Amino acid sequence: MKKVLAFDVDQTLNVAKTPITNDIAELLVKCLDHFEVCPISGQKFDQFLIQIVDQLPNPTTEQLTHLHLFVAQGTQYYRYNPEKKDWEQVYNYPLSDEQVAKITATIKQAAKELGYWEEDKLAEGDEIIENRLSQVTFSALGQKAGTEAKYAWDPDHEKRKKIVARCKELAPEFEYEIGGTTSINAVTPGMNKVFGMTHLLEELSVSKEDILYFGDMTQPGGNDYPVVQMGIDTIAVRNHEDTAYALRGILGIL
Ligand SMILES: [Mg+2]
Repeated sequence: MKKVLAFDVDQTLNVAKTPITNDIAELLVKCLDHFEVCPISGQKFDQFLIQIVDQLPNPTTEQLTHLHLFVAQGTQYYRYNPEKKDWEQVYNYPLSDEQVAKITATIKQAAKELGYWEEDKLAEGDEIIENRLSQVTFSALGQKAGTEAKYAWDPDHEKRKKIVARCKELAPEFEYEIGGTTSINAVTPGMNKVFGMTHLLEELSVSKEDILYFGDMTQPGGNDYPVVQMGIDTIAVRNHEDTAYALRGILGIL
């Protein structure tokens, strides 16, 4: 019997960068009665609140204490403090300013050289490269672009594979992972989901065998693949409908 259900967020629990559906929200609340529930994603803390926590239908304090937010690929960890009735940061491992500057310059150069720097398509006030403290994220069309445009931009990952290949030539000291629909996450080596999952094991005092992980990018090069390589049992999903289907199965046999 698994003790922990861990989830990638983009495309696994939601349509990338949008709030989870009522269906997923209801299923997650039910899961909190039986499992420790750990979303792990490259996104920032505020997006975890907007996309996941705020969507849960009337969770109890007890249920929230079983929800563990592994922000920025688990380089930041937040849990619910039942006394304060608020989220508190347990740890944070940020990049240095020099690392952020180097990564930003590298991705910008690679995308420009390849003709994939689409500044003209950005919404006002939006940005292509975002400092998420523990990682730097390239979003080809910015954060605010429509879902349809994002899906259409690089469905076969070919554009991002080329950008990543060039980045690796320019600054091989960092790791670059394809995630979401238009994103590349750059981190220092080891600061990928392995880092997050390793800390999850420590913080929750569980072993690898206790975890079941859901992800949509479990193929080599995908941002969920490091979890597979760790030997954690993984369910590969195409989208949140697949995840809902699997969760119904798991909850149904309890
Ligand atoms: Mg994903």
